[in-house]
Amino acid sequence: MSDAALVLTGIKKHYNQGKPNEIKVLRGAELSVKRGEVVALVAPSGAGKSTLLHIAGLLDTPDAGQVKIAGEDLTGRSDRARTNARRSEIGFVYQFHHLLPEFTAAENIVLPQLAAGVPNAQAHARAVDLMGKVGVADRAEHRPGALSGGEQQRVAFCRALANAPGLLLADEPTGNLDPATSDQVFEALMTLARETGLAALIATHNLELAARMDRTVRLEGGVLV
Ligand code: ADP
Repeated sequence: MSDAALVLTGIKKHYNQGKPNEIKVLRGAELSVKRGEVVALVAPSGAGKSTLLHIAGLLDTPDAGQVKIAGEDLTGRSDRARTNARRSEIGFVYQFHHLLPEFTAAENIVLPQLAAGVPNAQAHARAVDLMGKVGVADRAEHRPGALSGGEQQRVAFCRALANAPGLLLADEPTGNLDPATSDQVFEALMTLARETGLAALIATHNLELAARMDRTVRLEGGVLV
């Protein structure tokens, strides 16, 4: 088995915002993220971070290039194969938590496991275990609306990791939080990554947080440097 959780090769992507306004967002981006490695993705806004994360997360297809997840080349595979890979191998976290408001924090982490066929009691035990690792176990029975922003985001991390994916993709996961909370949420993420051998690609504007990750890649002129 390959020890790379994610390999991007020669990724190109353009958007047509009405001819002749073609924007080449990615011009041959290359990246390899090893298992257990946490990589910061830094770029000014509009540079194409979200586009890159969507392609890496199999939510969007590149014009050219190859996306390998856990050693498997998913370029040109069927929608079904890509959806299955996305569900089992990849966790997503966004700037806003997108937790389901009518369910408790624990239920938000249980639901994706039930969808994957995990029995309820086992799913609940895993939810509580994950919440314990990031210091929100005492909030398990509260709905998201009753949690602070930092707690909501920590629950969102637990949900992303509910089905034990090998790769976490995060788009400005602390972008919406004050500095102290952002720090706490970031530490929670690093703890989870270290404990589970998770690979992560985390887009951030925060250079101080980026410096605490294993490595930083910059998106400049459509390539990663
Ligand atoms: P970032 O996440 O770094 O802010 P994005 O990946 O969201 O950047 O966008 C990169 C560029 O591509 C921007 O100029 C944006 O306007 C353009 N873009 C993104 N998505 C689309 C789309 N669906 N259609 C047309 N242009 C898009």
